[in-house]
Formats: sequence, C-alpha cells, structure tokens
Amino acid sequence: MKKAVIIGAGHSGCWAAYELAKEGFDVEVFEEDKNPGMHAVLICTYSLCDYLGFVPKSMNKISKAVLFSKNSRTELEFDRKRPDLMIDRMDFTKMLEKKAKSAGARFHYSSRFIGFSKNKKVIVSLKEKNKTKKIEADILIGADGTLSRVARAAGLHSNKKLIEISQAVVNLKEKVDREAMQIWFYPELTNYFFWLTPIDGRKVAIGIMAEKNSKKILNDFLKRFKIEKIIEYQHTLAPFYEKGRISSDDVFLVGDAAGQMKVTTIGGIVSGLRGAEALSKAIISNRSYNRELCGLNSELQIHAIARNALDKFNDKDYDNLLEMMNYKVKRLFYGHTRDELSKMVLKLALAQPKFLLFARRLL
Ligand SMILES: Cc1cc2nc3c(=O)[nH]c(=O)nc-3n(C[C@H](O)[C@H](O)[C@H](O)COP(=O)(O)OP(=O)(O)OC[C@H]3O[C@@H](n4cnc5c(N)ncnc54)[C@H](O)[C@@H]3O)c2cc1C
Repeated sequence: MKKAVIIGAGHSGCWAAYELAKEGFDVEVFEEDKNPGMHAVLICTYSLCDYLGFVPKSMNKISKAVLFSKNSRTELEFDRKRPDLMIDRMDFTKMLEKKAKSAGARFHYSSRFIGFSKNKKVIVSLKEKNKTKKIEADILIGADGTLSRVARAAGLHSNKKLIEISQAVVNLKEKVDREAMQIWFYPELTNYFFWLTPIDGRKVAIGIMAEKNSKKILNDFLKRFKIEKIIEYQHTLAPFYEKGRISSDDVFLVGDAAGQMKVTTIGGIVSGLRGAEALSKAIISNRSYNRELCGLNSELQIHAIARNALDKFNDKDYDNLLEMMNYKVKRLFYGHTRDELSKMVLKLALAQPKFLLFARRLL
C-alpha cells in the first residue's frame, strides 16, 4: 500500500486525503494548528457542488450581484437552482476532514512540517511539542497554504505576489436584500474590489482585496454603513496565480500552496478542490500532475489575463464595463458560474463585441 503524507488540513489537503484514502492509499495528514480552518465567511459559486458531487451546508444562498462603479450600476442574476453559497470555512473544512477520516485517512494536529530528506523514500520531519519526529512516505503533498514551507523545502514554485484579503463580519442597523451581494469597483482605493455578502438580513460580511493596507482601507470603507456591531475581523494573504513548478518526483503542491487561485475574484476554494482532484487522479493513475491540471490551469490563466486588464482600469473604464453588460451578457452570467470563465470568453465577446476594446489594454 502506497503511503501519502499530506501537510495541511485545509480544504485542499482534506479533499486530497479523501480522494487518495478511498482509493486504498495509506494517508496521514499533519496540521500545525490545534483546530485548523479558521472561521471565515466565504462565497463560492455553485461549481463547488459540481466538484464535490453534493451540496454542502451553507449559511445563505445568493442569486444576484449588484455591481457599482463611480457613476454606474448594474445587476447580474444567477440561476436560482445554481446560486452562490455562503459557507463557513471552518465548518466546511471540518466536513471534508470527516469524509477523509471515514475513508481511512489519519489526522494529526499540533504537528508542524519542518523539512524533508530523501533516500529511496521521502523522510518527512515534523515538530510536535518541541520533539522532532520522522515519518517515511512514498509521496509528500504540500497543502500548507500561501506561504508553503513544503514548497520552499522542495525548491518548488513559491507564491511571490501576495494579495491581502480583509473582511469584517458585522450586524447592520438596517436590513439588506439577503439574496443579493454588492460589489464596488473604486480603482483609486484598490485595483480589486469591495464586497458586501449577506449572511442574513442584517448580518453581513464586508470586505476588500488589495495589494497593501487592506485593513486600513476596509476600516474607512466601513464608515459608509450604519453598523450596529462589528462581530469579527478576518484577514489573510492569498497567492496570485502564476505558472511555476509545483511538483518534483514525489513531492506535490496543491491549493493555495500551488497558487491555485482565481485572481479576478481571489477565490481559492473551487480551484483548490479541482487541484486536489487533479493531483489524486495523477497519483492514482501514475499520470502527469501537469497534464491533469490542464483544465484548471487554462481557467486560472484566463482569470490572470482578465486581472491584468482590470489592473489598468480607471473609474471611467469601470463605468463603461458596467454599461456594456447588455441582456446577452447578463444571460451568460445567468447560465454560467464565475468558475467557468474559459467556457464563457468567446460567448462574451460575441454577446458584447465592445469587450474586445478592453483587450487593447493587454497589448
Ligand atoms: C477572510 C477570508 C475570505 C475569503 N474569501 C473567499 C471566498 O469568498 N471565496 C473563496 O473561494 N476563497 C476565499 N478565501 C480564500 C480561501 O479560504 C483559501 O483559498 C483556501 O482556504 C485555501 O485552502 P488551502 O487548503 O489550499 O489552504 P489553507 O486553508 O490555508 O490551509 C493550509 C493549512 O496548512 C496548515 N499549515 C501551514 N503550514 C504548516 C506546516 N508547516 N505544518 C503543518 N501544517 C501547516 C495551516 O495551518 C492550514 O490549516 C478567503 C480567505 C479568507 C481568510
């Protein structure tokens, strides 16, 4: 029986553990935290359910996005049978961990990866309560997040450009439409965007992505709302997708560790699951990981190209972009999720040829 050691019990590590354990691999997961998967309110497209094969527990369902730029506003509706899901990161990770355990994977907490060496096998070094322990494995998987230590130890791709995500979970004084998320594009404050995602009528997550100073920009932005109570702040560093070497012989990276992130919206959940699925398939069938990643990489590359254009947008460009969202474009967003951009690109150009004008930004 082949042995796989997985570092990191986030959703990418848990899903890889589940997929490998159910195929008969001896899987051990090592996680440095006592309780992995810190609380964070996440929004995921319905593609999440397609990749999982079931609908996970959610806090709310979102069927509309209201987009604002300085002088414009538009609405995108999603198919109500395939809404976006608001999920709690900790609950979601726990659910995947339970699945992996029931498939036979073993989990160890407060166990930190510190390095590895190789003879015929991979010898993984871990620190547990100031003691170092060594584990032999056939395969080492780094699912240890943006600042992956496995990537550094193996001399693999490391995430160079990082993006800050800052979010506050708050109670508002007034009710909002609980099915509609709101997105603001204010390029003088961030080349990404601000969001408000409802958890219920009054409890919402308000957040921002930015290259720096996200906490300060968020605090200024919060002043625009009538807030009854700030419940919690959540913050992380997310990777920017770039092509790089994410495997060597018996060592593989997955999820944020591998930079598997949609950089238009900074979504890592669906991409991490797809990455874990591709990796497990490659390991199980002894095929190339890169080959299995073809579909995901093309999707992430399209997001990177779109991000490159968006980074150059000013207020006027965002006003134009929102005004170009005609009926045909809206119908495309109704029928596809934002995790299917590669399927939409050509159709979007046909639905609104003016989008091609933005392509000039890439030249
Ligand atoms: C506030 C916030 C909002 C977000 N919003 C969204 C969203 O709306 N939609 C979306 O798709 N994504 C969102 N994300 C991003 C998403 O949460 C990540 O992309 C995803 O969690 C990455 O999963 P992962 O399993 O690859 O890595 P992680 O979840 O980072 O898991 C890595 C695990 O490895 C462990 N680890 C690290 N180093 C070691 C070591 N040396 N030894 C042992 N264990 C180690 C860590 O403790 C951690 O548990 C958000 C994140 C935050 C924090």
